[in-house]
Amino acid sequence: AKGAAMVTAVASRVQAQRKRIDEVLALFRLTHEHLVDMQEKMRVELEYGLKRKTHPMATVKMLPTYVYGMPDGTEKGKFLALDLGGTNFRVLLVKIRRGRKSVRMYNKIFAIPLEIMQGTGEELFDHIVQCIADFLDYMGLKGAQLPLGFTFSFPCRQTSIDKGILIEWTKGFKATDCEGEDVVDMLREAIKRRNEFDLDIVAVVNDTVGTMMTCAYEDPNCEIGLIAGTGSNVCYMEEMRNIELVDEDEGRMCINTEWGGFGDNGCMDDIRTQYDKEVDEGSLNPGKQRYEKMTSGMYLGEIVRQILIDLTKQGLLFRGQVSERLRTRGIFETKFLSQIESDRLALLQVRGILQQLGLDSTCEDSIVVKEVCGAVSRRAAQLCGSGLAAIVEKRRQDQGLEQLRITVGVDGTLYKLHPHFSRILQETVKELAPQCDVTFMLSEDGSGKGAALITAVAKRLQQPWRE
Ligand code: BGC
Ligand code: MG
Repeated sequence: AKGAAMVTAVASRVQAQRKRIDEVLALFRLTHEHLVDMQEKMRVELEYGLKRKTHPMATVKMLPTYVYGMPDGTEKGKFLALDLGGTNFRVLLVKIRRGRKSVRMYNKIFAIPLEIMQGTGEELFDHIVQCIADFLDYMGLKGAQLPLGFTFSFPCRQTSIDKGILIEWTKGFKATDCEGEDVVDMLREAIKRRNEFDLDIVAVVNDTVGTMMTCAYEDPNCEIGLIAGTGSNVCYMEEMRNIELVDEDEGRMCINTEWGGFGDNGCMDDIRTQYDKEVDEGSLNPGKQRYEKMTSGMYLGEIVRQILIDLTKQGLLFRGQVSERLRTRGIFETKFLSQIESDRLALLQVRGILQQLGLDSTCEDSIVVKEVCGAVSRRAAQLCGSGLAAIVEKRRQDQGLEQLRITVGVDGTLYKLHPHFSRILQETVKELAPQCDVTFMLSEDGSGKGAALITAVAKRLQQPWRE
């Protein structure tokens, strides 16, 4: 009888623990109504950003890019491209031949040490120019005066294709004396300081725009670019007459939405959890980019970590011991989340991954960790999907169409590596925008190729007499 009582006691303790874990997971579950609400709110913010009167206060900045047209296949030449702001910093040489789809690329990846990402602006740009010099040496191109496209994946206020004033840093960057400055000028000055070579900087491009362009090169229906990677953002082709910040009314221009700032006015507070707040407070830009912090690779692992710390403190995980490792910021990179959530993985392998991360787990622990990862990434994909639904629906209504067919060019480690993110994102868009037929197209190296294509188009428009 005593034994039976003990078994019952253990069983009810396990049950109580399970209930507490489920309560935490439930905070991340979004209903259809939640998602519709997010879609509607995103739509409102898109309009605010476009209107002259509301633009200054808008959280979704809707920045004009001065990219009007798509490549038409007549682009050609050799270009340099820089890609700053994603997982890696890269320098590329891109050769475009007349006629479609013949693009050749050579690239080199360079590390940007943390001291430089968060040092002074001069140090950062000197480092970038050092990397360009290494690359030119390596390719045997020293002295060649190539046109350059600069993919700079941060919010920039543009007044032309070759000017971009950094509004504010996001993600892991925080170099001083850059905000409010033109990043093209900063790059030109750093090249001058080095006094070794000259470059013709033609375009500064957001990574979303490069991604859209790369896909548009192959599919003219591609009018949206999405990044779900270290950060989160979307661009799309908008009617000029809707862009109040630009005077012209004819034709269309690509808008960099900078939707990562959605929610910064509190409009998502009903679904933000204490864990989201902790991640925000511990970030380089507290209070900013709240949507990005719930949907992108740089932060999902951090949300997971905050939940695991809380569950551990409640005695529900890791034998109640919050280890030094678990207290370390940034341990759950996208690639680990993706591995943990892979369906082909046995629980023993999940334990192996946690072990690699320095976390000693039991079999039960590994089940809970996997569930936590699933809840966080699922919510991210759904939120991202509801934002995208707002964009495609806007495009459909603006064109007065019953049904819209549109292609979205996509890039980013979260979209590409995660086993479920892309599927849930697509399902959500279907659910929320049933009158839109959305095709998702993976971009092959959008940041590099896209920057080169935009540079090529800009060059052609700059010098029409050479045609
Ligand atoms: C930046 C965007 C960028 C996105 C994806 C965000 O943090 O603000 O400009 O497109 O990350 O890289
Ligand atoms: Mg990138």
